Amino acid sequence: MRYAMAVDTRKCVGCSDCVVACQTENDVPIGYCRDWIVETNDGTYPQLFTEIRSERCNHCDNSPCVRCCPTGASHISEGGIVLVNPNKCIGCGACIASCPYNARYPHPDGYVDKCTFCEHRVKDGMKPSCVAVCPTKCLTFGDLDDPNSEVTNILKRRKYKTLIPEAGTKPQLYFLI
Ligand code: SF4
Ligand code: SF4
Repeated sequence: MRYAMAVDTRKCVGCSDCVVACQTENDVPIGYCRDWIVETNDGTYPQLFTEIRSERCNHCDNSPCVRCCPTGASHISEGGIVLVNPNKCIGCGACIASCPYNARYPHPDGYVDKCTFCEHRVKDGMKPSCVAVCPTKCLTFGDLDDPNSEVTNILKRRKYKTLIPEAGTKPQLYFLI
């Protein structure tokens, strides 16, 4: 089992429904977020294009945040999901500093928090809340080890990229281009 997410940059309209859904589902404190929207502009006039991405933790296969955690609070759970155990976290912030994607934030209660791929929902057979609410269906979540899963098939059909591949973290968020 290897969970991953594909984000279709051709469908995302930057509505932020995924951000609001995540904040509600996961009781994210006001002023923080586990996922966010990035808009970039590229090209030269008159051939200009805008890319909109819904970003979050990449649940990296080679995760520096897990390696550097001194207490084992940051760990890899079933299906490769990278999680933080708040009871073990001492809030030292080493993981925040090590993440090239700025995917973690310091929770006001003294631990570090981030996207969990909504593991609590996935365990019950549901999709992550961001995936469930997206009005353009631009987020696809599933098991890359399953040859018949939607995420496996979309990555076979479409071109994609990962973010900051040169960091060597082996991210598991795939941006369809
Ligand atoms: Fe860790 Fe950052 Fe990768 Fe998430 S995106 S697994 S927090 S290094
Ligand atoms: Fe938030 Fe869940 Fe989406 Fe992660 S997968 S960004 S926790 S809604």
